[in-house]
This record gives sequence, structure tokens and C-alpha cells, in this order.
Amino acid sequence: MNSYIESVNFFKGNNPEDIVKTYGTPLYVYNEEVLRRHMHDVSQVITKYPYTANYSVKANTNIHILKLALEEGNNCDAMSTGEIQMLLKAGFPKDRIFYIPNNVSAEEMKFAIHNGIMTSCDSLSQLELFGSLKGTKCAVRINPGVGAGHCEKVVTGGKKTKFGIAEEDIPQIFEIAKKYNVKIAGINQHIGSCFMDPQPYLDAVTNLLRIALQFEDLEFIDFGGGYGIPYHKLDDEKPFPMEDFKKKLEPILDDFVAKYGKTPLFKSEPGRFCVAEGSVILGRVHAVKQNAGKKYAGTDIGMNVLVRPSMYDSHHDVEVLRNGKPVSRDHLVEQTVTGNICESGDILAKDRLLPEIKEGDLACLLDTGAYGWSMCSTYNSRPRPAEVMICKDGTVKQIRRRETIEDLMMLF
Ligand SMILES: *Cc1c(COP(=O)(O)O)cnc(C)c1O
Repeated sequence: MNSYIESVNFFKGNNPEDIVKTYGTPLYVYNEEVLRRHMHDVSQVITKYPYTANYSVKANTNIHILKLALEEGNNCDAMSTGEIQMLLKAGFPKDRIFYIPNNVSAEEMKFAIHNGIMTSCDSLSQLELFGSLKGTKCAVRINPGVGAGHCEKVVTGGKKTKFGIAEEDIPQIFEIAKKYNVKIAGINQHIGSCFMDPQPYLDAVTNLLRIALQFEDLEFIDFGGGYGIPYHKLDDEKPFPMEDFKKKLEPILDDFVAKYGKTPLFKSEPGRFCVAEGSVILGRVHAVKQNAGKKYAGTDIGMNVLVRPSMYDSHHDVEVLRNGKPVSRDHLVEQTVTGNICESGDILAKDRLLPEIKEGDLACLLDTGAYGWSMCSTYNSRPRPAEVMICKDGTVKQIRRRETIEDLMMLF
């Protein structure tokens, strides 16, 4: 593919140069239609049984994006009391929030209990805490002993991870629940992030449903998130095979419902899938050079703006824009695209074949809506970037102002 942003008309006729003239760079740009479409698509994964796709908000907690999830009918998962507060501010009713924390203090647990927010306990000791704080009904997170994901750091199921309660400890769940008179209303799992092959997830669903048979009277069973998105779209990578996945999932659920004798609410927890493809980052190329025969293009998209490449070795496609138009990919040259942070690990794309980049071009990084702004930092005392939304009608709306150095100084 020569250009993804042209193929989907990402900017809806706006010239990216005009957008950055108003809002500056680096800039997160979202497309409302793409976001809504993904949020809607995940809500249709199970249609035969009661089902909710809970948007896992740690991927992106911009309040305007939470409001889109609210309008699209998604429930949400929060990992912290801060995320719960963001959701409440966005207008989510408490019964549409599921709290899946780990290693939280009594204060944090109390906050959820007092607000009547369904909470998942990640360990036996957190279940004890929940009971001792007079919580009456909760879920438990099971570590199913299997995991999957795009790199080791994002595999969250399996024997070697910190998450969940091991299957062999289930009898102790029942003991603690009985001691405090706590009802176990649901079980949940999350095996990892960004898989493109549905099979490990289907295996994990089958496994969790086998475990579920040990629990009486579950109100819900939550299979976790992790559906991948095609980060290599310029190389024509195919999207997650949602239709194939749905077809294979249904008989697994049929089998369970027949055995269990009733139908709990099924849930999943997609984060990345909902928001990743709905955003790009625009950054200015300020310098190009050669070091030891290697070509570098230096942008203002530092690792503080997008940490995924430095942290996980993640791939983000890069389009080169000149006068606001994608440069043709007919002639490609190996280049390394970097940020402006004083760290040698501050690299966005290493030894990548790209159209030859010139000073003054815009670098457009694709698929930055998930774990993008939400992982931004102010490293090197660089204020965090602004975010704008290309609305359905084509207007450009600022949805978060750029942080200023005064904002940072206010903490002293
Ligand atoms: C992060 C997380 C998710 C979302 O993962 P994605 O890969 O973004 O879909 C879901 N559930 C839990 C418990 C998580 O921690």
C-alpha cells in the first residue's frame, strides 16, 4: 500500500500542514469514525448470548474518547481509581465500570467498594482484603497457565507472570469467600496483548470455561482482551480475522452453556483494538544526517511522546508527508527515524525502508491511538503533546491542549 492515510481519507480533506499550523507538533490526531467503527465491531463478537465488550481504558483515557465508548454502548474496564474517576467524569454509570486492579492499597479497594463498582481480585491476599473491608460481591482473576502477545513484556497469562490466581488455589478462593460471606459473581482472565492468530485466545476461552464449571452461579465470565491490529499495514498485513474468530467461538460457548445449565453474561476486554488504528502522530523532521554511513531523520516525536518502539521494540509504520501529501513509496531508502530525547534508545523506526526524508517534512506515525498518549511522559522536561479529533463532519476539534512548561512548574 502506498499510503494508509490516503486510502481511508484519514484527515477527511484537511491538509495536515494546516492542522499543525494551528496546533503545533508533535500532535496526536484521531479520526472519530475509525474509533467508533472499532468500538462497535468488538461489541458484535458474540451475538447469540448476552455479551459486553468492555473497552480497557488504559489504552487511551482521553475523556472525549471515553465519551465515544459510552455512546457506542461499550462498558469499560479500569485498572486504577484514577481511571474510575475519569470514567465517572465522562458520564459512565457505575454499573458499566469493571475494576481490574492489581496490588492495590486498602484505600484504593475501599474507593471501589464504597462506589459499588464491581472489582476483580488479582490474588488471594487481595480477596482477603476485599472481604475484610466488608465487600460483598466481587470477581476473581484467574491465571489460566497460558499466555500470548506481541512481546514477552505484554504476556499476562501463564505461569511466569505476576497476574491472577493459579488454578490450584481455587479451593482457597472458596474458603476466603465463605469466611467473609463474599459472593464470587464473576471470573476473568487476560492472557496478553496483540495477537493476530485467534487460536491461543480460543484455547484460553475453552480453558477458562472448563475452570468456570467449578464455580456455582456465576453472573459473568470475562475472557480478556488482546485482539491485535495490523501494525504493518503498509506491507499489506491483514487485520485480525474477526469473522473466523466469531465462528470458532460460538460452538465453544454453546458447549459450555449446555454443561453449565444457565447462561452468564460473557465479556471481553479489548483495549488496543478499539483505539489503536484511530490515531496517527504528526511530527516535524528537524534534521537529517549520516553517521557511519547510516541515514538518520530526526523528528520531534521523542520517546516521551511515543514510548512503544523504545519500550517493546514495537513497529509503527511511518508515512513521509511533504507539503501535506504522502511521498510516493516507489523509491525507498534505508533510514532510521529518531526523536529529540537525549537517549540512544530514542528511536521510532530502525533501518527502515522509506521514501528519502528531507528537513521540513512531516513524519506521520500510524496506529498510535493505543498506549500512545496514555504512556507519554515529560522526560527531558518536554511537555506532553496536544490531541485533536477529526470529527465525522470533517471539522478538527482539539480534545486535549498541549501541556506547557508552566504546567510542569506548578508542581513545585
Ligand atoms: C491491558 C489489559 C487489557 C487490554 O489489552 P489489549 O491488548 O489492549 O486489548 C485487558 N484486560 C486487562 C486485565 C488488561 O490489563
